[in-house]
Amino acid sequence: MKNPEAQQDVSVSQGIRMMFYVMKPSETSFQTLEEVPDYVRKATPFFISLMLLELVVSWIRKGKPSGGLDDALASLSAGIMSRLPRLFSRSIELTSYVYIWENYRLISLPWDSPWTWYLTFLGVDFGYYWFHRMAHEVNIMWAGHQTHHSSEGYNLSTALRQSVLQIYTSWIFYSPLALFIPPSVYAVHLQFNLLYQFWIHTEVIDNLGPLELILNTPSHHRVHHGRNRYCIDRNFAGTLIIWDRIFGTFEAENEKVVYGLTHPINTFEPFKVQFHHLVNIWTTFWATPGFFNKFSVIFKGPGWSPGKPRLGLIEEIPEVEGKEIPFSSSASQLLKIYVLVQFALMLAFYEETFADKAVLSQVTLLLRVCFIILTLTSIGFLLDQRRKAAVLETFRCLVFLMLCRSGHLKPCLSSSSFAFECISTESIK
Ligand SMILES: [Zn+2]
Ligand SMILES: [Zn+2]
Repeated sequence: MKNPEAQQDVSVSQGIRMMFYVMKPSETSFQTLEEVPDYVRKATPFFISLMLLELVVSWIRKGKPSGGLDDALASLSAGIMSRLPRLFSRSIELTSYVYIWENYRLISLPWDSPWTWYLTFLGVDFGYYWFHRMAHEVNIMWAGHQTHHSSEGYNLSTALRQSVLQIYTSWIFYSPLALFIPPSVYAVHLQFNLLYQFWIHTEVIDNLGPLELILNTPSHHRVHHGRNRYCIDRNFAGTLIIWDRIFGTFEAENEKVVYGLTHPINTFEPFKVQFHHLVNIWTTFWATPGFFNKFSVIFKGPGWSPGKPRLGLIEEIPEVEGKEIPFSSSASQLLKIYVLVQFALMLAFYEETFADKAVLSQVTLLLRVCFIILTLTSIGFLLDQRRKAAVLETFRCLVFLMLCRSGHLKPCLSSSSFAFECISTESIK
């Protein structure tokens, strides 16, 4: 029997509460996976509202914004790129889970019991801790996760700087839950665990008193994003900081945190942000002699090299002074406004494409995804002031016109996507 309290639509109250994991089991328990709402997609207005609120608070308190536009756009671009594969299929985190549940489950805990709900909350958070720790300690996993750490700023937009690759290893850490927890309960907590981690990416909240003992907080997560030596490989928690306290990886915030990678990448290009470390691994792999050493390049820590301990040497982490100036774009203010407008238009296409994906043909979906990636790349080129930026942007504008003419893209924000889809299917015929 269906749960009458669980709704597909998310009310404003639920939307605010879900950003902080303050949800009741009764309103978020579903019998089947198909009934589980896409909470992460429904969170877009709350992401935007909280980012604007952070901007205002930061302006009032410090007289300046909480970060640069260039850095924020690079973060949002990474977030968009990481979600694009979901237009075509269910995520691997869900498909692998359902496969294990259907073929190997030992028992079936009741989907509508609050005990199952709370156990899954703990199970997903525990799985996240170990995934996240391994993502820092295993070089090939770090190749995905480093994207999230590549911002030299720290504000709510940093939370959205997500990796395209990460999901291909994170599913492993949740799979034991599939032996006893129904996929619908898992799918709810997987989303809330991710959403909870949004609000902790901020400098406008200092210390939360006794809550710091149990919860992952902005202060704890600031340490996690630091490149100061005392911050390296600390505070891997998702929602509960207790895992770091139990497994000895906890560190409290003390000296000023300098954010980002130990070796900053100094670029806003989305492909470099996502994949640059894969290139590093590739070159180090071939430059390192011996089979076992090559194996270690892939599976030991990012700081490892022959003769060093598994996670490298902390003395080799560059010292910071607290006066480091984050990389920023040298583009003019006018160009930045142009880039912002193009990004906003693309964001509207992105949202609309997700909303209409059920009625769009695979060809239209694919063309739209290519256009979104082209737009993000062009924005990265413009912000980086690359020599080919003008050529790429002109090409992108031509592609935009061609896609509009062929009906695969709408030139303005009307709700007539179905009509456009009919036209495009007709034109394909
Ligand atoms: Zn991390
Ligand atoms: Zn983070």
